[in-house]
Amino acid sequence: MQTITAKFGGTSLADADSFRHVAEIVRQHADRRYVVVSAPGKRNGKDHKITDMLLMCYQLASHQLRFEDVFAIIRARFEEIHRGLGLRQALGPVLDEIEQNIRGGASCDYCASRGEHVSGLLLAEYLGWPFVDSAQMIRFGGGRLDDKATYRLIRQHLSGVERAVIPGYYGQDGEGNIVTFSRGGSDITGALVARGVEAGLYENWTDVSGFLMADPAIVPDPRPIRSITYKELRELSYMGAQVLHEEAVFPVREAGIPIHIKNTQRPEDPGTLIVPQQTEKKATIVTGIAGRKDFRVISVEKARLREESDFLRKLISVFESNEVPIENMPSSIDSISVIVSQAAIQNKEKKILEEIRIYCQPDALTSMPSMALVAVVGQGMNHETGVAARVFGALARQGVNIRMISQGSSEMNILVGVENKDFERTVMAIYDTFVQGEKE
Ligand code: ADP
Ligand code: ASP
Ligand code: MG
Repeated sequence: MQTITAKFGGTSLADADSFRHVAEIVRQHADRRYVVVSAPGKRNGKDHKITDMLLMCYQLASHQLRFEDVFAIIRARFEEIHRGLGLRQALGPVLDEIEQNIRGGASCDYCASRGEHVSGLLLAEYLGWPFVDSAQMIRFGGGRLDDKATYRLIRQHLSGVERAVIPGYYGQDGEGNIVTFSRGGSDITGALVARGVEAGLYENWTDVSGFLMADPAIVPDPRPIRSITYKELRELSYMGAQVLHEEAVFPVREAGIPIHIKNTQRPEDPGTLIVPQQTEKKATIVTGIAGRKDFRVISVEKARLREESDFLRKLISVFESNEVPIENMPSSIDSISVIVSQAAIQNKEKKILEEIRIYCQPDALTSMPSMALVAVVGQGMNHETGVAARVFGALARQGVNIRMISQGSSEMNILVGVENKDFERTVMAIYDTFVQGEKE
């Protein structure tokens, strides 16, 4: 018997019907032994995620404002699921305790984590499976995941437990405080559990039929990707294709466990398989297109900068000492651009520019706000010539002004910088060129 770890996202667990449907999927395959759950997500476009409402409760409570009205909505949603599933174990005391803890000044991470916690309790009871709390297994230390301890604890708590429901998104530090991953982090829990139990497969069930070639919110009905390598996936999820949390790849990649992205609503669809190496020949050179808005590009020009052996170090240390992470650094012979997220540099920009002037003595220094980056990713690209030229051509025809372009050294991706306002048009134009163009 193979072991499958199956993670179900928030939209797959939005109400009682979807819980029932998830249970059906789980029971369909005896190999699905460890089920990791998210907090209930949106039931429709106007709805709220449970996690967002819990964070709102924390914000209100920490400002000594009334949070009870928001908590009442959370309570009602869980009670509806509880009732809809015909569960018997009392839910009131669980919710009362959470409410009391929020009132008593519980931490932000504790509050945020409770959606997964309750979701897990409900599904465990419905399936008749044990609930194993992630607080006992996912270990943080020094503000980071302690993966070695985590795998040890997963083995310790799950060996001999044939089936279990496990809440996603959170763990605990050495002092017993609840710690969460960043948003969307249940995907990481799923990957850690898969690795810890040495699963043969990590299934990630969501609301789309796998990874699509572009964000369906931008490109109508994009083509699904049948298979993709871990590396390509990393590039795409880092650049905004957040179907799977970007950190979720590492634990399973190291152990060579494939990830299968599946659609809960359409389980018969093939979905996307994420594998170490591409085996099948692709219909298109490009595997996927993804992007993010709101970057700032700081360009430093200086004649013969490469002759100054410490130029790069000085430039980088300005960002480092101001604690602004660098996202990318495309360069040409006499210039280097530093790309940072707008949110990270916010109030520090003046100081950073000042320090670059002092330490690097550039000939010219410019800062471009409101930039979007679009990544065109595909392992097939390194055998093809003219991919960049096609990207240029597509954007020129649309009248999009390219502010920056850079090709990764692996030649697996091309990064294009455009203004925020041109972002959607850029993704569309590139998609059309590589997908529609190749159909003909
Ligand atoms: P879950 O709640 O199951 O964790 P998420 O909302 O985190 O699901 O991720 C799925 C969503 O990711 C999709 O509904 C879709 O809107 C979005 N998305 C962004 N880029 C892509 C892409 N390239 N392919 C598929 N979905 C994408
Ligand atoms: N519930 C958390 C969030 O909304 C974690 C997750 O769904 O993965 O971000
Ligand atoms: Mg998600």
